[in-house]
Amino acid sequence: MTAFHPTKYHLQSLCCGANYPDKNWELQCPQPHQPSLIRAIYDIRQINVHPEYSGLYRFADWLPIERLLEGSGAPVTFKSEGLSKLLGLDQLYITFNGYWPEKGAFMKSGTFKECEAYSVCARTNNSEGVMVVASAGNTARAFARVCSQNKIPLLLTIPLDNIRALWFDHPLDSCVRLIACESGGDYFDAIHLSNIAVELEGFYPEGGAKNVARRDGMGTTVLSAVITIGKIPDYYFQAIGSGTGAIAAWEANLRFLKDGRFGSNKMKLMLSQNAPFLPIKEAWDLRSPAMLPIDDGLARTQVDEINAKVLSNRKPPYALKGGLYDAMMDAGGTIMAVTNQEAEMAAELFLKHEGNDVEPAAAVAVASLMKAVEEDQIDKKSLIMLNITGGGIEKFKMENNISYITPEKIFALDADPMEIKQEIAGMFR
Ligand SMILES: [Zn+2]
Repeated sequence: MTAFHPTKYHLQSLCCGANYPDKNWELQCPQPHQPSLIRAIYDIRQINVHPEYSGLYRFADWLPIERLLEGSGAPVTFKSEGLSKLLGLDQLYITFNGYWPEKGAFMKSGTFKECEAYSVCARTNNSEGVMVVASAGNTARAFARVCSQNKIPLLLTIPLDNIRALWFDHPLDSCVRLIACESGGDYFDAIHLSNIAVELEGFYPEGGAKNVARRDGMGTTVLSAVITIGKIPDYYFQAIGSGTGAIAAWEANLRFLKDGRFGSNKMKLMLSQNAPFLPIKEAWDLRSPAMLPIDDGLARTQVDEINAKVLSNRKPPYALKGGLYDAMMDAGGTIMAVTNQEAEMAAELFLKHEGNDVEPAAAVAVASLMKAVEEDQIDKKSLIMLNITGGGIEKFKMENNISYITPEKIFALDADPMEIKQEIAGMFR
């Protein structure tokens, strides 16, 4: 592999503006103040693409990483022909995350969660202990793949109802272990398990939206788009679960403003959720700076109904400083509701007119674009980026031998935290 020197960057608190070095897996500002994201500030202001580094790492200039790992794919951006003709759009660009060899897309777990996983696992300043990741499914698959391939100890927690998301083309290394919350539980319950796990000595949280490596890994979708197009788009379409991808897109946009070579606009964030589970939309529609109270029982019922299970986050990084509310207020945009039926139809149209399958969350994004066109929310001549956050999964499954994994332990939703800790500690003894 080509020699690699760790990327030079420091961290900055979005609340107090404090600058400090990334010493030990920092997830927040060391100063005591209101919840706030921290951001990586890179020494290199004008990004260079590095084709000599494999996969995602061609964007290493703007990734907080110390090393390169094997096996990653990168987002691929191309100008749409089929879908743009169908919708009458002049400049529709698709950023595809997933498996599509004909287009040069080689994410073998099929979603942009791979961008996060390869970035997070290459930020190695906390290499001791077991990383803990809670996931609705796709994130778990991506992290399992990277950690197994690169021998990084990992504990995954997922809802049992999403277990079919854990398919692989290779057996996993024993450094990757899986636990689940019982049927009827959702992503929120999986997060609960992970919160208990990280209280154990030797376990540390991956950090989700708070991890700069995760956000900047996701931001490579925008790096791919802007560098391919040569310009910052007017609109950014993506389906959101936590909204972390949208925050990352906004942050990448801000870096391009400082870069100065790609225009001076901010992409409007055209985001979407899968109805009837719409907590972020409901908060944003009222311009509420905080999430509205959520009834746990009702949320579980709604999540049960939606096809795009990965869009089921009940505690998104919305209200904290530098989070989704701030991003939307700064960049502008809207959050749309898309039904299962609308998403299914959009997926069929994408397959027919572009030539590949898209996963349910990406289908929600495609449907939201169709809706925005139908409702005249956007100028048809504008420059549009459609982030296909997952696709080619059916294609990959057909071309490869796929096996599924089962959780080592399944916990009741009301399980005693002490017992959960004992069981988890026993797994890694
Ligand atoms: Zn601070």
